[in-house]
This record gives sequence, structure tokens and C-alpha cells, in this order.
Amino acid sequence: MMDMDLDERTILNVISESIGKEYVPIIEQLSKPKHDDKIAEELNMKATIVRTLLNDLHAKNLVEYKRTKNKKTGWYTYLWKKRDKEIRRFIKAYLENKLNELNRQLEIEQNDVIFACSCSRVSLDVAMENNFVCPHCNEKFDRLNNKKIIRKLKAEIAKINSLYK
Ligand SMILES: [Zn+2]
Repeated sequence: MMDMDLDERTILNVISESIGKEYVPIIEQLSKPKHDDKIAEELNMKATIVRTLLNDLHAKNLVEYKRTKNKKTGWYTYLWKKRDKEIRRFIKAYLENKLNELNRQLEIEQNDVIFACSCSRVSLDVAMENNFVCPHCNEKFDRLNNKKIIRKLKAEIAKINSLYK
């Protein structure tokens, strides 16, 4: 695996895209270790919601915590910390997967003759079998102009490739 140049923005974008945008402020809050109630306070969120989000991230190994018992109250407090190495590994794996998928899609778009009506996209074989009329919507199957799709796929691929050192 080649190394990737992952800046903070790329990391947060991928977190948002892969797990959900609600996790982004939590990760941002953990630029240094913090207690969950402190995070809740700073984000003006319910502590129970913050804990749920932290637990989700913990299940993915992206954060860790240190538990301490308050001697006076007997309650436990949790000091949360992000796991930078694991986060980078997660982001890299996600982007590599995505790159493979995009390349696969690009190959299909470039090599296959695609026909389409307003409800579906089909191969030349399927279009021929149906005499170029869609059995679902009765529209004519037309050769799909997928130049735009190809351009978009290529741009996404180039974006990910540019992250490799
Ligand atoms: Zn149709």
C-alpha cells in the first residue's frame, strides 16, 4: 500500500462521507483529549447523544478512553482521545476501496454500450432482446451519452490519486 498525504480536511470529509457528518464535530473536538460532558457542553448537544457517537467511533477503533472513578461521588468519568493512526488507516482503506470501485465503474462506462430510457439503464443485449423498447415504461431505449458520467468519474479518481505521495 502506498502512503497517502491526508490533511485534516480530507480526513474530516471522508469521516463525513463514510460514517456520517454528525461525527465530524466530535472528531474536531478531540484535537486534544476531552471528557464527554465537556464535548457535549462545547457542542451544545445532549451528553447521551455525544456518548452514543463516541461509542460508535469506539466500535470502529477510531477513539479510545480512559476511565477514572471520582472518589467523592463514586461515579466514573471518561476521558476520550482520538486514535490518529487508526483514523488514518481507516481513511486510507476507505479511499482505496472507493478508488477501486470508481475504476470498476469507469471501465464499465467506457467499454459497455449502454442504452437507457427514463426508468433504467441496460446493456446492448437487453435492449436488443426487447426490440429497443423498455418493457416497464414502454419508452424507446436510446444510446446513453455517458460522457458526463465518465468525466465525473475521472475527476473523482484523479482527486483520490492526487493524495498518494
Ligand atoms: Zn423504462
